[in-house]
Amino acid sequence: MHALETAAVVTVGTELTTGHRLDTNGAEVARALVNAGYSVREMVSVPDDLQAIVAVLAELLSRRALVIVTGGLGPTHDDVTREAAALVVGRTLMRDPAVEAALSARVSVHRDPASAISLLHQADVIEGARVLPATTGTAPGQLIEYAGHTLVILPGPPHEMRPMLHDVLRDRVASAPPVTLKCVGITESDAGHAVLPLLTTYPTVDLTLLGGPGEVDVILVSTTGDDVELTAAAHAARTALGDACYSADGSSLAATVIDIAIEREESLATAESCTGGLVAAALTDVPGSSQVFRGSVVAYANETKSAVLGVDPALIEAHGAVSEAVAVAMARGALRIPGATLAVATTGIAGPGGATPDKPLGTVWFAVAHAEGRTTAEMHRYGGDRTMVRDRARTTALDLLRRSMLDS
Ligand code: AMP
Ligand code: MG
Repeated sequence: MHALETAAVVTVGTELTTGHRLDTNGAEVARALVNAGYSVREMVSVPDDLQAIVAVLAELLSRRALVIVTGGLGPTHDDVTREAAALVVGRTLMRDPAVEAALSARVSVHRDPASAISLLHQADVIEGARVLPATTGTAPGQLIEYAGHTLVILPGPPHEMRPMLHDVLRDRVASAPPVTLKCVGITESDAGHAVLPLLTTYPTVDLTLLGGPGEVDVILVSTTGDDVELTAAAHAARTALGDACYSADGSSLAATVIDIAIEREESLATAESCTGGLVAAALTDVPGSSQVFRGSVVAYANETKSAVLGVDPALIEAHGAVSEAVAVAMARGALRIPGATLAVATTGIAGPGGATPDKPLGTVWFAVAHAEGRTTAEMHRYGGDRTMVRDRARTTALDLLRRSMLDS
């Protein structure tokens, strides 16, 4: 296997280098390039400055098979990417009659004749370039072959850039697209330790870890396009990560829970205090969840826990609402929902108020109850604000449902 072809991404715009606008094009183009089988070696943002753009493009184009540039193709004085690209490849800009005709149709909407003239600058095409027609905007993109390398310039607005990007990469499919193993209930460093030995076993595979609240993505990227080795590495990584890994095809945690429930013929219910229905919302976000999701009780007040879920008030009095005993009673109570066979309950202190010395902010009790009688419970302590605690609790509740079905 040979090395992958290399590519670079350049995003142009003073609004990017001053921090006034987030560069989303860079990430979007890089992702598309990786999925098309390129190894992206540089991502650079430069201001709307002719010399700066020329310098960066000249250097990257000499080293990379493909350089994709976005931004600076508009009609205003600061849009100089077209001129910069022409300088780099040493060719002239020529007015393209077909593009000019298409733009002229729009010129009439501009009251100021000067703005009509600058609009027509967008019809200037680099000698020998392939024009990438604008389907949603005014500025076309351009693809230039130069000394065995390819330079592509695309407009800045993401919705204008996107169809042209896909047009350029249409015929390329990576022989080994990246694999993302989604994990939950494991720390980023534990996930890293579990998969680190694979770097030695599979030298053509690169590993990246992406940590999120309560979740870790382990991303495997082939450096050569060898899909046999990438598949073997992904398989070994999955084994090393064990139960923590819930999907290898991008499915969300909630979708995974729904899939397993369908397969195991379980019907799910939730009893939620501190999560206020977030677990039910995540489950019902999944198309087809009606097959297995029966319903939820948001039991926020203690009286609701007792009246609707049948939690004994004496239990709440003795242990407090945030306790193992109450979580278990809530989960058992949720099994009153007709048809439910498996229920999860949450009760915790999301803050900012309500903490006590033995139950600090972020303390959440969970319980899972099965209609056949099995129950489990566990306590977690999360850092962060109210939103973070609730989000983490939702993830844990979904994971407990998942694990309880795997164990059974
Ligand atoms: P331009 O083609 O440079 O005139 O860009 C026009 C508009 O596209 C800008 O005002 C931004 O709203 C948007 N834009 C340009 N570059 C980017 C980028 N890298 N990421 C996201 N949006 C961008
Ligand atoms: Mg701009």
